[in-house]
Amino acid sequence: MTVKENLAKITETIGQACENCGRSKNEITVIAVTKYVSIDRAREAVEAGIKDLGENRKDEFLEKYEAIGDDVNWHFIGSLQSRKVKDVINQVTMIHSLDRKSLAKEINKRANEPVQCFVQVNVSEEESKHGLHMEEVEDFIDLVKNYENIKIVGLMTMAPHTDDEEKLRGVFRQLRAQRDRIRDKHMPHAPCEYLSMGMSNDYALAIEEGATHIRIGSSLVG
Ligand SMILES: *Cc1c(COP(=O)(O)O)cnc(C)c1O
Repeated sequence: MTVKENLAKITETIGQACENCGRSKNEITVIAVTKYVSIDRAREAVEAGIKDLGENRKDEFLEKYEAIGDDVNWHFIGSLQSRKVKDVINQVTMIHSLDRKSLAKEINKRANEPVQCFVQVNVSEEESKHGLHMEEVEDFIDLVKNYENIKIVGLMTMAPHTDDEEKLRGVFRQLRAQRDRIRDKHMPHAPCEYLSMGMSNDYALAIEEGATHIRIGSSLVG
């Protein structure tokens, strides 16, 4: 399948999900996750109309960034080692994987201007997953309030790998409730308006539960 064909299908699904819950599809940013594919395939996504690309590794990110340039928004979605921050921080538009103070500190030090960050939350508390536990999130956001180069724009999660719709909705709902709590504090460093959740298998549900940024790899460019 071409990316264009895949995108047409996904756009239709997004439209349906938005209709189901009374949202506007303009609220949804589709991030094409190109981590499995070549530069050419990533370019094909951009030519099909994608404006946001996501990568989870430093080297692959830089390789694609050099080739494709910054007419698109670049999202860093993978766990980031502190020593690699300096190589990517002034190229990325958003970081989806802020999950510890040492990383926040390094971003704050290396960034030339404030960076839009999602705090990654391990809602389902699976051991294999990165991210803060739900009850750690508010303290963490408080901890970074004096870092002038960190802007907390939202929360991110990876849902468990399951077809259990109610389980998935439960995870997305919990993240949304936490987002609402933080957003409603109106903290200058943490507007926390966004929800980065939903991947190839679960993005329609994520949208119905409030996702603003969906990260789609295999079913879009795979
Ligand atoms: C790989 C990846 C995705 C995309 O996964 P698909 O199931 O291929 O859509 C989304 N988010 C993160 C953090 C990923 O690592």
